[in-house]
Amino acid sequence: MSFFSGIPVAPPIEVFHRNKQYLDEKAPEKVNLTIGAYRTNEGVPMVLPVVKQAEIELANDSSLNHEYLPVLGHEGFRNAAMELVLGEDSPAIKEKRAFGIQCLSGTGSLRAGAEFLAGVVGLKTAYVSQPTWGNHKLVFKNAGFTAINTYTYWNAEKRCVNIDQLVDDLDNAPEKSVIILHGCAHNPTGMDPTQEQWKRIAQVIKKRNLFPFFDIAYQGFATGDPNADAWAVRYFVDQGLEMVVAQSFAKNFGLYNERVGNLTVVVNDKEVIPGFLSQMSLVIRANWSNPPAHGAQVVHLVLTNPDKRQQWMDSIKEMSGRIKTMREALRTKLEALGTPGTWNHITEQIGMFSFTGLTGAQVDHLIKAYKIFLLSDGRINICGLNTSNIDYVANAIDRTVRS
Ligand code: PMP
Repeated sequence: MSFFSGIPVAPPIEVFHRNKQYLDEKAPEKVNLTIGAYRTNEGVPMVLPVVKQAEIELANDSSLNHEYLPVLGHEGFRNAAMELVLGEDSPAIKEKRAFGIQCLSGTGSLRAGAEFLAGVVGLKTAYVSQPTWGNHKLVFKNAGFTAINTYTYWNAEKRCVNIDQLVDDLDNAPEKSVIILHGCAHNPTGMDPTQEQWKRIAQVIKKRNLFPFFDIAYQGFATGDPNADAWAVRYFVDQGLEMVVAQSFAKNFGLYNERVGNLTVVVNDKEVIPGFLSQMSLVIRANWSNPPAHGAQVVHLVLTNPDKRQQWMDSIKEMSGRIKTMREALRTKLEALGTPGTWNHITEQIGMFSFTGLTGAQVDHLIKAYKIFLLSDGRINICGLNTSNIDYVANAIDRTVRS
């Protein structure tokens, strides 16, 4: 007899499950294309040189200590993060109607934002793209949303954004629904709306009085330029829309386990800010009370020092450049092998992921026969490819598709 008897075993979280399968696999030829983390050409995680440098400086800074941060986080970090996504000369910043709230990476920012919208504002219906990142629905459900619907995103046949259906679905969403939008580098499809398509999305959101909730976990990874990657968010600001933006510094600073995130908020009337901040303080107080300091101090130091910021931009270029090179290599090799199907989407997609179009059965075969681990929807993390394994992976895909 136990308080806990009868608890059903929940299904595994696919991405971590597959990653563990990879780690447990003994075959030396194994390849990990699962988890969304950057790897160098040597297949190892990358500590950005400027991050290391900032950490050394912080360790030697005797003015720092381990006192609690304020509930809403490190003020300098909050401002730097907000400026990174909205742009330094954002009208919303100039008009003092934008602010940042430090949260626990992208997930914590989504969670705090969602809990605030559900509990304080009373918005209970959310829409996520179909498909979307595996955690969106769970976060919004646990945050108090009672209806989590999907809007069409993907045209599987043409491997592109199904913009007409997307706009139509949003047009039919009830007023005051919260619309979760991937700011850039859509996960898992790797395909973002074009600027013209974003304009249509903003228009229908405005017309139908919907609330945009941006999730931007890959700023810098889509094009190599953090400003270009924030285009959609900034366009929505220019359209006078209120919004929240969940930012993660896991990928673009390589600070995965430091849980550095920020919720940037844009409101139309700055009079609402004191109420917003005081209520958000209660949401955070009941969750993690106050955030960790280390990663926020690193990001703050790097973003506010021109030399360090430049070094960071150089690392972003290096990482996104390597991804691009691997995309080109995979496509070229598959085309050279004459692998049945078309492979242009591999270079047309952006960010870390490619939605390969491989079927569930083909994924199983790649895992069983070749020890190449990927997600069942066919998503691969391009960062898992390198000059040593690219031929092996291309040949394995070729034989799998033909079998
Ligand atoms: N949103 C998306 C779309 C993501 O892919 C991720 C990371 N996989 C996140 C948010 C949040 O990640 P983290 O909490 O590690 O910042």
